[in-house]
Amino acid sequence: MNCDLLVVGSGFFGLTIAERAAESGRKVTVIDRRPHIGGNAYSEAEPETGIEVHKYGAHLFHTSNPSVWEYVNRFTTFTNYVHKVYTTHNGVVYPMPVNLGTINQFFQAAYSPNEARELIAEQAGEFNAKEAKNFVEKGIALVGRPLYEAFFRDYTAKQWQTDPADLPASIVSRLPVRYTYDNRYFNDTWEGLPTDGYTVWLERMADHPNIDVKLDIDFFDESQPFNKRATVGHVPIVYTGPVDRYFDYSEGELSWRTLDFEQEVLPVGDFQGTPVMNYPDTDVPYTRIHEFRHFHPERDSYPSDKTVIMREFSRFAERGDEPYYPVNTAADRDGLLKYRELQGGEKDVYFGGRLGTYQYLDMHMAIGSALSMWNNKLAAQ
Ligand code: UDP
Repeated sequence: MNCDLLVVGSGFFGLTIAERAAESGRKVTVIDRRPHIGGNAYSEAEPETGIEVHKYGAHLFHTSNPSVWEYVNRFTTFTNYVHKVYTTHNGVVYPMPVNLGTINQFFQAAYSPNEARELIAEQAGEFNAKEAKNFVEKGIALVGRPLYEAFFRDYTAKQWQTDPADLPASIVSRLPVRYTYDNRYFNDTWEGLPTDGYTVWLERMADHPNIDVKLDIDFFDESQPFNKRATVGHVPIVYTGPVDRYFDYSEGELSWRTLDFEQEVLPVGDFQGTPVMNYPDTDVPYTRIHEFRHFHPERDSYPSDKTVIMREFSRFAERGDEPYYPVNTAADRDGLLKYRELQGGEKDVYFGGRLGTYQYLDMHMAIGSALSMWNNKLAAQ
């Protein structure tokens, strides 16, 4: 093997490890079974309009971690984009996440922050946020039952098709609840979109004389070079694919959600006036519509008479589907523990990223955990 490190998967986790290793003088080979780098962060220009489309769903970069922010700025600058989301419930548009604007619009009222707090506390009375054991308890504790039922219950049923009582409370904790009119989606210190697009950013990470990227190579296909049988035990490996796939599902399959997208070019300059519109009601089959031009209002190359939209549908992943979200039920957590034990027996194989750790990591978390793995485990080897 004429490399010092093999990285399986070229998403943010894999590329961060590859870049750090290359910078420290190691020869790194990165393989990916797809025909492009970047994992699900990959984006490309829609050919008819030139509008940048995030092929695997909208990716919004945000972080409060100074090391991650410093690191990512080595490869790209960021626009001043601030993510805001709206949601259409019973034919009326509300701001999301739940904030004073959502509450006052929903109750047709003019509550002050304290009045709104009192009202929601009353409506949330049956559960306490600190003790909430699952998604439904946490959701009701945070926003009260009426708002939970309007904006979370059915959206979550579409997104996860899992009884919310079996989903972890952490999923709903991703969203802030605010008693001001601030409707920023994220709370982080830094936020923005890569000025020249995600793919340019990812390519710059991989652009190093010590990094060799090989696409269309499946780690599990023994007829291909760099496959599992030919490499494990011969070279250190950072593996970022699904952890259950690595062990040939010996401890059972972990459950994942996958997404289907319906992309359309429309002959209008603006379809919905905002980048993301959620659809929490059961009579609409998709969870949200992305309109990509709105992610880059600063780009004057985009046409004024056409737009690209993408409807997002969610379902359980079968083998062969792209896994996106770990479902993380109690049974999955048991399975994961067994896989973690098996990992201990794999010499010189390091598991990382959303798929490799079965964790709902955002991009900044994947990059942050790759930097830690490099600094704490791999750099000294
Ligand atoms: N969620 C919801 N209604 C919304 C938005 C989010 O019920 O309008 C819930 C849903 O269960 C979702 C979770 O909150 O899976 C986290 O939302 P987020 O926007 O962070 O999900 P992502 O963008 O990662 O798909």
